[in-house]
Parts: sequence; structure tokens; C-alpha cells
Amino acid sequence: MRTISILGATGSVGASTLDLVRRNRSEWRVVALTANCQAGELAALAREFSAEIAVVGDESCLRDLRAGLAGTNIGAAGGADALVEVAARPVDLTVAAIVGCAGLAPTMAAIEQGGTIALANKEALVSAGEVMTVALAKHGATLLPIDSEHNAIFQCLQGHALSDVASITLTASGGPFRTWSAEAIAAATPAQAVAHPNWDMGAKISVDSATMFNKGLELIEAHHLFPVGLDRLKIVVHPQSVIHSMVEYRDGSTLAQLGPADMRVPIASCLAWPRRMDTPMPPLDLAAIGELTFFAPDEERFPATRLARAAAEQGGAAPAVLNAANEIAVAAFLAGNIAFSEIAVTVERVLSANLPEPPRCLEDVLAVDAEARARARHVLEIA
Ligand code: NDP
Repeated sequence: MRTISILGATGSVGASTLDLVRRNRSEWRVVALTANCQAGELAALAREFSAEIAVVGDESCLRDLRAGLAGTNIGAAGGADALVEVAARPVDLTVAAIVGCAGLAPTMAAIEQGGTIALANKEALVSAGEVMTVALAKHGATLLPIDSEHNAIFQCLQGHALSDVASITLTASGGPFRTWSAEAIAAATPAQAVAHPNWDMGAKISVDSATMFNKGLELIEAHHLFPVGLDRLKIVVHPQSVIHSMVEYRDGSTLAQLGPADMRVPIASCLAWPRRMDTPMPPLDLAAIGELTFFAPDEERFPATRLARAAAEQGGAAPAVLNAANEIAVAAFLAGNIAFSEIAVTVERVLSANLPEPPRCLEDVLAVDAEARARARHVLEIA
């Protein structure tokens, strides 16, 4: 039996992970499950999986969590420090699936244990790329990418040397507004933005897919995970989401990973790594899919990938600033306070100010993140 902790258990990635664990109950012992404030849902999961401890990030929800766990011997805790403490408990696999930079400190705590981390929380790696990379090497931790594109690249690189890579191509579905005019995109509503054509995901990443910031964040993520140089990282729009990414080698061979657009495939790859496990999806039926198409990204209508590439080139604090500004702008958009088109405008404005010194440790990254959030709120004139 292997031990597992799932940070962000009540989310979309958390649910897909727990679905696979549920189908293989005899193979896993669940140590910790965490959420932010969905205390009732978290308590139900902790009961179902006989977790050792359940933690809510928002301390004000601890009372509800305790009520939901009454009569069990499952531990309960709340608050940011409790999340870090529980993430530091040694386990065979930590699934890092909190959304946003809120997941950074717990993910770093798991890395410092030197364990294996299946990372979905892309914002953490984008904000703290260098700091996290150094920590991974220092503590001998293993990072397995859950993000479908990076998981695809990870698979295509097995048995090959990075020095033989000519280029890496991230595929992008193009999101729900791929074919929309700039005017229509500018006026898009939150309901339209979260209605992704191929993937069923949490609200924040769905908006990121609609703006293409998701692909921008993934470009920065790939830059840290697969250091072949930014000039070798490409993006292509592939609306069918069948090819999840590709690696081209210097001999002219391109390896691609294909699969259903269901996160249980890359999550299964991490859970079973370096082996394979069954998943419940029907096999890919290429004849039924019929055709796979590809387009160059349109950075006029979707400036996010241009901004992300520039932030990656600039390095230092720029990726953390881009991420923080985007998180604030997406939250404001989802709350109905700003227009869709203001998300990228806000990120660009926050990035164009003087940037803080490059972060050297977790505390530095968190300080850069807090300052950029404050600046984004100021730009948006929200409290
Ligand atoms: P969801 O919004 O569905 O879930 C987020 C999880 O994080 C929930 O458990 C939520 O708890 C918890 N959470 C939110 N805010 C905080 C906080 N401040 N402190 C502690 N916990 C918090 O997100 P997704 O599952 O869609 O995404 C999770 C991560 O995985 C993101 O970084 C996303 O970019 C990445 N990812 C997601 C994919 C997907 O298909 N969904 C694909 C690839 C990557 P609560 O329920 O209580 O709010």
C-alpha cells in the first residue's frame, strides 16, 4: 500500500484523482485531504477514504469541518500554517492541486520532504520557478507533471536526452472564444468563459483557457520543467485536444502523446509512474474523431501568450507578477466587476511598472506575489 495526500481534494483535479484512488482502494492509504472552505464536502471525502487528517485553508471553516467529522477519529485543522504542516507529512505521493499561488507554500513543504509530488498547481511553479527548481534538487524530490501538456511532454521525453530535443510544442485547444471576433471576446460573460469546449475544469483555469493565459502559464511551466531554452518552446492551436503536446528531436522525429480529454489520463500516469494503470475512459477512436487540425496562435485577439513569453524572457520577478495580476483580474472578472478584455490589459499594466528584485526564497516569492496583487487591485480600482 502506498500513502497519498491530496492538496485541493475538493477541486476538479482532486475529484479526478480521488476517482482513480476509489477504483484502486486496496493500493492507497489516504493521509491528508485539504480544501479551502468546502468543509462539508471535505469531511465526506475524508470519511469515505478514511483519511488521517482533513484541513481547510480558511480557518473560519474549521468549525464546519469539525462538525462534519464528528464521531470519527479523523484529525481536523484549519489555516495556512496547518496546510503547510500537513503537506510536510511524509507520504509516497503528494498531489498538489490547490488553485493559485495559495498552493505554493504547501507544495514547497512537500518538496522539502524529498518525496514525489504530482503537480497540477501550475501557478506555484510559474511564480517560484527558480526557487522550486533549486529546492527539488536540494531535497532530492521528484516532480511529476499532472498538467496534460507537460505530462505528455514528460512521456515523450522518456528514454531521450534533452540535448537531442529540437523543439517542444504545447498544444492549445484555443478555448471557447477561438473563433470569436475581438469585439465579441471583449464582451464575453463569465458563464461563456467557463464553458470550455473540451475539458471540464475549475473556474479559474477555464477562464485562463479562454484568455490563453493558461497556455502562457504552461509555457513558463515548461521552461522550468524542460529547460531546452525558450526559443525551442512553441505553441500550436489544436481544437480537438487529442494531441496533448509534442517533442521534436534533432533527427526530424516528432513524438506526440494522444489521449482522451480527461484529466484522469495524465493523473493516472503520475499515480502509476513509472508503470501504467487502468483508467475507465473508452479507448481513443481516431476514425470517429476524423481529423486533427492545427493553427498558429492569434496573439492580437489573445495577447496572453505574448505577455507570458516576455515575462519568461525577462525572468526574475516577472512571472510571479504576471501570475498574481492574472489571479486578481480573473477573480474580478468572475465576480462580474471587470470585462473579459480587461484581464490581459491589467496584467500588461502591472507588468509594465518597475519590478521587484528577483525572488531568492519562498518568502521573497510570496512578497512579490502580495505586492503584485496589491498593484493589480490598484489598477482595477478594487479594494
Ligand atoms: P478547482 O477550483 O476545481 O479546485 C481548487 C482546489 O483548491 C479546491 O480543493 C479548493 O478548495 C482549493 N483551494 C482554493 N483556494 C484555496 C486556498 N486559498 N487555500 C487552500 N486551498 C484552496 O481547481 P482545479 O482542480 O481546476 O485546478 C487545480 C490546479 O490544477 C490549478 O492550478 C489548475 O491550473 C491546475 N490544473 C487543472 C486542470 C483541470 O482539468 N481542472 C488541468 C491542469 C491543471 P474549495 O473547494 O474549498 O474551494
